[in-house]
Amino acid sequence: MPLHNAVVKNFILGGYGRRETPVPFPNTEVKPTAANGTLPKWHGRVGRRRGLFYIQLTMLFQDIKSLSNEELRKFLSDNGHKPYRAEQIRVWLFKLMKQTYEGLNVPAELCELLERSFRIKSLNEEIKMESSDGTIKWLYKTADNLPVETVMIPTETRASVCVSTQSGCAMDCKFCRTGRMGLNRSLEAGEILEQVINVYRYFGDAGERTVTNVIFMGMGEPLANYNRLMKAVRAMLAPQPDGLGMSARGITISSVGLVPAIRKLADENLPVTFALSLHAPDDGLRDELIPVNSRWKVDEALDAARYYFEKTGRRVSIEYALIKDMNDHPWRADLLAEKLNERGRGWVHVNPIPLNPTPGSIWTASERDVTDEFVRRLEDAGIPTTLRDTRGKEIDGACGQLAASE
Ligand code: SAH
Repeated sequence: MPLHNAVVKNFILGGYGRRETPVPFPNTEVKPTAANGTLPKWHGRVGRRRGLFYIQLTMLFQDIKSLSNEELRKFLSDNGHKPYRAEQIRVWLFKLMKQTYEGLNVPAELCELLERSFRIKSLNEEIKMESSDGTIKWLYKTADNLPVETVMIPTETRASVCVSTQSGCAMDCKFCRTGRMGLNRSLEAGEILEQVINVYRYFGDAGERTVTNVIFMGMGEPLANYNRLMKAVRAMLAPQPDGLGMSARGITISSVGLVPAIRKLADENLPVTFALSLHAPDDGLRDELIPVNSRWKVDEALDAARYYFEKTGRRVSIEYALIKDMNDHPWRADLLAEKLNERGRGWVHVNPIPLNPTPGSIWTASERDVTDEFVRRLEDAGIPTTLRDTRGKEIDGACGQLAASE
C-alpha cells in the first residue's frame, strides 16, 4: 500500500568529489492535500550524499494516531462533524488496530475527509529479521522514506517492544551504532505508537494484551522528542478505546541524561520507569564517551535521576555498557556505588550489559571475570545489580546496534 501525504523536496547545495554522479534522490510529491485544522508539518535537515550537500525539506501530513482525543474531537467539530465520532475512530485505531479507513462506519463524506487529511499507516515494513532466541527486528521506512527500527523481545508469557523515538540520533555516543548515523528527524506520536500496534498485529490478537512492556531504547533520544514522546505514552496508557490500555509499570523511558527533561518527566507524575544511560561514573571518561556530558555532568544527571525517584517512587535503572579496559575497572564500580549511595539507599538499581560491539569500533565487551567483579563490587556496596543479556545480537537487534544498515 502506498503511503501518501508526504512531500519530499531536496535542494542541492553544491559539494565536492564525484560531481558527475547523478544524485539518486528524486523529489517526490504524493497526494498533498490540506484540510481545515491539519496543517502539514515541515521537517528540515541537511544531508550529504555522494559528495553533494543538500537540504531536504519534508512536508508531512500527520498520522491520525498522532492526534489526542481532544484534538480529534476539535478537528471533527471544526469540519462540521459530530465530535462523538472521535470515540468511534479511536476504537478503529486502538482497539481494532486497523490500518486503512476502509470499512470504518462513518458517513462517506467524513471518511473522505479523514483520508485526505491524515495517514492511517505510517510505517512500511522493509525487512523483518528473526533471531534464534525469538527476538524479531523490523526495519521500517517512514512516509518520507527514513529508516526506523523496532525490536520485539519475547519471554514465555509476555513480549517487550523496544521502540524508536527518532530516525537516527543526534547524541553521538561513541559506542552506539545509531549514534554513527546522525539524526534524520524525530518521529511523530503516531509513528511511535504504530511500532507497538504492529507488534500487537503481529501476534494476531488485536485487543488482547500480549504486549506487556514498552521500552524506549530503540533509535533516538526519547527526551529530545519530549512532547511527541509524552503524547505517545499517554495514548499507550489510556484505557481502551481511547488508547492501548497498557500499564505504566510496563513502560521504561531511557535517556542519555538530558537533565531538564528528566526533571520535567518526573513532574509528570506518571509511574513509568526511568533509565539513565550512565556508562561511566567520572566526568573524565563520560565526556569522552557521551558528548552530551559536556553539558550535563555525571552528578547533575544522578541528581536528576534521584529527583525522579523522589517524585514518582519508582526505582531508577542505571544502564552501564561494560567496555573492555575502558569503563570496567574495579575502581569505577566502587566510584559508581559511592555516588549512588551518597544519594540514598533503595532508590536505584544498576543494569550492566556487556558491550555489543559495533562494526569498525575498536571497543569490545569486557571479559567475563571482569564483568563478574564489577557486578560483585556493586552488590557488596548494597546496590541491586542485574546483568542484562544481549538478546537479538545475531540480527543486530541488541542495544546500540540499530542502524538500518541492511
Ligand atoms: N538514547 C537513549 C535510548 C537509546 S539506547 C539512551 O541513551 O538511553 C538504549 C541503551 O543501549 C542505552 O543505555 C545505550 O547507552 C545502550 N547502548 C548503546 N550502544 C550500546 C552498545 N554498543 N552495547 C550495549 N549497549 C549500548
